[in-house]
Amino acid sequence: MKIRDILDSKKVTLSYEVFPPKAGASFEPVINAVDELCKDKPDFMSVTYGAGGGTSNNTVKIASHIQNDLNVTALAHLTCVSSTKEQVVKAIDEIKANGIENILALRGDIPKGGEYPVGEYYKYASELVKEIKSKGDFCVGAACYPEGHTECEHKEDDIKNLKLKVDSGVDFLTTQMFFDNNVLYNFLYRIREQGITVPVIAGIMPVTNGKQIARICQLSGTYLPARFKAIVDKFGDNPEAMKQAGIAYATDQIIDLVANGIKGIHIYTMNKPDIAESIKKNLSYIIGDNQ
Ligand code: FAD
Repeated sequence: MKIRDILDSKKVTLSYEVFPPKAGASFEPVINAVDELCKDKPDFMSVTYGAGGGTSNNTVKIASHIQNDLNVTALAHLTCVSSTKEQVVKAIDEIKANGIENILALRGDIPKGGEYPVGEYYKYASELVKEIKSKGDFCVGAACYPEGHTECEHKEDDIKNLKLKVDSGVDFLTTQMFFDNNVLYNFLYRIREQGITVPVIAGIMPVTNGKQIARICQLSGTYLPARFKAIVDKFGDNPEAMKQAGIAYATDQIIDLVANGIKGIHIYTMNKPDIAESIKKNLSYIIGDNQ
């Protein structure tokens, strides 16, 4: 099923993200996590793509397992900056051959040292969106950054670039993680004002490793509210307490989002089914059959 139709037909959707095994690593733990996560019957499940080629071959395999063996709608991520146009077209053909109808079109991070592929390649995700749309009846999603993309100095320019991307054929957007919902509300106001009207799915990262998240946020420029910092400071060295607090924080964030009219919630599961399951249980009367 196409994600745009799922978003259209449901009051609130809950979806999950997983990442494939690194090159040379075993598939089994990832497949086990995916199988567990699918028992929750998420509205769809996305599989990330290793821009450097490391995990890229595995993305379609996992997405195909989700779609064809587990009967859950799959969303295959696809990046373009490290691949030639020919390689990208081959990847789209492979996704299509596996019966996957949904692709998250991404540029990917610029390779270290700025080494681009030899030959023709796509510079921005918007170019990839156009290519995917020309290759078949795909539902195409793209990334957005409520706090602005790190490479773009001015948020206004980032939103103008986002508008170009959406106009190239994007059906829905998924946000980068954020920990202050006001950041998303403010972003939504500004993009709607610029005429970006496609559904925006909120990307939620349940924080279970305090030190790791502080590092990631520093790199991506994600704002950490005082309440969040206090939790990481207090429980960061106690994995069980941090996990419990991370689940509670993500639950709280989602309740506030749904209460304020956000219709799509995407959990970055980090391949940890127990965490996703705990959050889903906390929301049983808020999202799902009881909504
Ligand atoms: P783009 O939309 O191309 O934007 C990149 C930059 O270029 C921005 O600063 C933008 O403002 C600017 N720009 C865009 N168009 C123009 C233009 N026409 N002129 C001038 N400037 C322009 N990475 C992975 O490697 N694998 C994944 O699976 C993956 N999944 C992700 C999922 C989500 C939900 C998110 C939010 C990110 C994900 N990423 C993933 C990270 C992403 O690849 C990086 O953030 C990357 O740096 C930007 O990708 P993009 O598709 O947003 O790029």
